[in-house]
Amino acid sequence: MNIPNAAASGIRYTPTTARERVAEFAETITSPVPEDGFPTEAVAALTQSGLLSAPLPPDYGGCGLGLLPGTMRPLLDTLRAVGRVDLSVGRLYEGHCNALQLVAQFGTEAQFRQAALDTAAGHMFAVWNTQGARGIDLLDGDAGPVLDGEKTYCSGVGQISRPIVTVQSNREDGLRMCLLRADELPLKADASAWTPLGMAASVSGAVRLADVAVRPDDLIGAPGDYQRQPWFSGGAVRFAAVQLGGAEALLDETITHLRRTGRDGDPYQTARVGSMAVLVESGRAWLIRAAEAADLVFGLPDFDAEAATEAVHLANMTRTAIERICLDVMEHAVRSIGVAGLLRPHPLERRVRDLTTYLRQPAPDAALAAVGRHVLARGNAG
Ligand SMILES: Cc1cc2nc3c(=O)[nH]c(=O)nc-3n(C[C@H](O)[C@H](O)[C@H](O)COP(=O)(O)OP(=O)(O)OC[C@H]3O[C@@H](n4cnc5c(N)ncnc54)[C@H](O)[C@@H]3O)c2cc1C
Repeated sequence: MNIPNAAASGIRYTPTTARERVAEFAETITSPVPEDGFPTEAVAALTQSGLLSAPLPPDYGGCGLGLLPGTMRPLLDTLRAVGRVDLSVGRLYEGHCNALQLVAQFGTEAQFRQAALDTAAGHMFAVWNTQGARGIDLLDGDAGPVLDGEKTYCSGVGQISRPIVTVQSNREDGLRMCLLRADELPLKADASAWTPLGMAASVSGAVRLADVAVRPDDLIGAPGDYQRQPWFSGGAVRFAAVQLGGAEALLDETITHLRRTGRDGDPYQTARVGSMAVLVESGRAWLIRAAEAADLVFGLPDFDAEAATEAVHLANMTRTAIERICLDVMEHAVRSIGVAGLLRPHPLERRVRDLTTYLRQPAPDAALAAVGRHVLARGNAG
């Protein structure tokens, strides 16, 4: 972890906690985030409330979320709370937190300081790794590195000014990370194929780079760092936290609907709401457990290999459990409200579409199989 001293940076320290920032953010979003494009106003509210800088250390105006030792629980609570407000905004915010963690973990002090200054200036970060048949090649240009190729499912494409893309050189083994100063580079954003069931506001389209020259100091870390464990698989708890926020919102909508329609006294409805509450609370328990395991590893200069393996194992179990929890909560919510909840403008309709889409995350079967392998190798229930 290379977190430099911020004394010389000139960044103003705002001594508020993550919880206060989340509360201010949630109060600002009083109506549904529009689905017809990037959620500019909600992202402005992230900046305004101090959530954008929350992952930075305190002397950079942040709360150290996910960067400093012992901050996994507040990070996951924050992601859950943002996801509860809106899943697309939660997705974008999760990418921002992930990118700042990657710069802190694998970047140089100068790169982190610049990232902190950029965050303080309102730049949002992202991580764009997913690709189709062709990714982005890292080539040797006459004047330095040159990028050529494309990435898909890039949340915030065309809007986010500081994405990290993973790139491949034919001289090196393993992906490299490159920070793109998207507002200064000739990138081609193409959201035309982003026509999803839900999560439209995450604007997760494609980006194309045709021989784009970048600065050597925009390359972050060494080849292979992006997929280095325990950070790579361990990071899955972040999206699981956002997803659980979506399930909490479904429970909120169900309670509101049943009370408004006078159906809250029915014994079947009461039992179903009880089941949903149990599911949501179990998701929170998973996140607490995953945060405990992660806190023995992430943000520490040194950790033991067993703790790292356990953090990955807990992350694999947590994402698997929370996917199931979200699917079950969704089924209960739809059964409780009925078809009225699937008709616009009922808020459930959008929440179901968003959560259904956002639950699709990479290699879910591989994550579960890794859990099985771990337990079989251990030889007991733990
Ligand atoms: C709203 C949204 C925003 C996103 N934003 C970003 C972003 O900003 N940056 C980014 O990098 N990505 C982003 N993604 C992409 C995301 O990280 C995943 O890559 C993507 O969602 C994978 O979903 P999938 O269902 O296609 O997964 P897959 O991993 O393709 O899984 C689909 C199915 O295939 C199975 N499977 C997986 N691999 C194999 C295999 N090798 N052989 C056989 N079966 C296999 C799985 O177990 C599963 O059953 C976003 C996705 C969404 C939905």
